[in-house]
Amino acid sequence: MGPALTAAMHLHLRRTLVRSVILLSTVQHHFYMQQRLGLICYLNTMKYITAFFLLLWLTTVSYAQTTADIIIRNGKIMDGTGNSWFYGDVAIKDGKITGVGNLSGWKSTKTIDATNLIIAPGFIDVHTHIEGDEIKNPYATNFIADGVTTVVTGNCGLSEVDLGKYFKFIDSIKLSINVASLAGHNDIRKAVMGKANRLPTANEMQQMMALTEQAMKDGAVGLSTGLIYIPGTYSKTEEVTALAKIAAKYNGVYATHMRDEGDSVTQAITEALNIGRLANIPVEISHFKLSGQQNWGRSAETVPMIIKAREEGLDVTIDQYPYTASSTSLSTLLPDWVLADNQDSINARLGNETIKEQVIDYMLQKLKKRKLKHFSYPVVANYKADTSYNGKSIEEVNLLMNRKHKAKEEAETVIDMMKLGGAGMVFHGMSEDDVKQIMQYPYNMFASDASIRIFNQGVPHPRGYGTNARVLGKYVREEKVLSLEEAIRRMTSLPARKFNLEKRGLLQQGFAADIVVFDPLTVTDASTYQKPHQYSKGFRYVLVNGQVTFENENHTGVRNGMVLKNEVKE
Ligand SMILES: [Zn+2]
Repeated sequence: MGPALTAAMHLHLRRTLVRSVILLSTVQHHFYMQQRLGLICYLNTMKYITAFFLLLWLTTVSYAQTTADIIIRNGKIMDGTGNSWFYGDVAIKDGKITGVGNLSGWKSTKTIDATNLIIAPGFIDVHTHIEGDEIKNPYATNFIADGVTTVVTGNCGLSEVDLGKYFKFIDSIKLSINVASLAGHNDIRKAVMGKANRLPTANEMQQMMALTEQAMKDGAVGLSTGLIYIPGTYSKTEEVTALAKIAAKYNGVYATHMRDEGDSVTQAITEALNIGRLANIPVEISHFKLSGQQNWGRSAETVPMIIKAREEGLDVTIDQYPYTASSTSLSTLLPDWVLADNQDSINARLGNETIKEQVIDYMLQKLKKRKLKHFSYPVVANYKADTSYNGKSIEEVNLLMNRKHKAKEEAETVIDMMKLGGAGMVFHGMSEDDVKQIMQYPYNMFASDASIRIFNQGVPHPRGYGTNARVLGKYVREEKVLSLEEAIRRMTSLPARKFNLEKRGLLQQGFAADIVVFDPLTVTDASTYQKPHQYSKGFRYVLVNGQVTFENENHTGVRNGMVLKNEVKE
């Protein structure tokens, strides 16, 4: 029932009651005048009392339904469905949305004026890595200032193994954002068999299955893989399928950082889709992209693979960060087999001249495939051994180390950095055209692939600050790659539906009051590769579970996020 109708009904009921009370007193007066029996007198008194309490009850009920904690008024409502915007108000009470529409008869403790602004559901970022940074910055300002109210962490196979314990920890520190988590295959494998470069024994497989099952029971929203990382890369399709079957049993999804995003991307997509079919599980392909200049334009090949699989009945969706650079570990430049076991074993291998030559050859071949003469595309984001190299490309670092301006020496520089613990990197390797082609696919959602940023630490990828604002500013307003309503749908109801986040992602009565209010004319990402530590602009208000967490572009200090667990349906 619409709120306007409800209000009108209450008004009508109240009028009827007032009329009946007047009528009652007239009738009673008449009986008094007639000096009738005392019994009638008694009955009439009872009628009076009943009418009085009925009126009192109805007033209370109607007060409760038309009074809110907060009403956001006069905005353009984009409810997350993808439907066209409409003018209206949104009422919030006790953390929930209690009314959407014309709420002119309603009262509230606080009013937010959204004239000329968009009111939308809070954004859901399905691909994040917040582990380890929650405690450093529970305000998660980079997410909040970009309109994000919920994150799904535990991606790329990297998660806490004991999710029950992790969720208790998240509850205890109270974040500003809601948190859901996937169960990470890499960490589950590591817990059972370390970083060993081999297949699991039957017993080890059983243990991995048991850990996955426990994580799902504890509320994981699915299983994630990172098949380019150690030790996930040492696994075969069968291993992942067996674990995905368990996630499927508990209503989870299979989210994958595929085995390859460059030359062998189509084989990697085929593997992901096969796991979806074999395990009968919805698939989410993470940070869908084409890496390396030699692969530019191949979105014309990869996006149709997703379309076809959906047509065949597989529930596959994808996500993307709206940038032409990726960000991951320096180690991804090296062959997998060098990275097995621990840092000591890595150093021992890299200390062997023969192996070192092999590694350098491998790296130079990869560079040649990219049609590049130098390692100019990997830029240091965070190198703990020497932070003065942060923000510099490998080509630049190599020169700063007083080495020759040669790719071979740059490869040696990478090896030296690996020996000192490696580094987080930004890799410039995608085409703008592919980014836009992928963006136009309707079942692609936006995700930052970022952590909670620690302000001014390192030179991280700007996606951690500006993913949503960049889509809304650059790609919706300026380049018109997609409509605003469509972008909002992909940031809200699409991810909520895919990851089983119940009663999230829509502006609807009874849904959680995760809400953003932003200016469509000024919303912009401010974070850049050179100066990443800048918050997005244009988000005026962000509410998390009904609490104002961001107001007039400032964090209010409120930490009202909660853990969102998958409802276990065995
Ligand atoms: Zn990843």
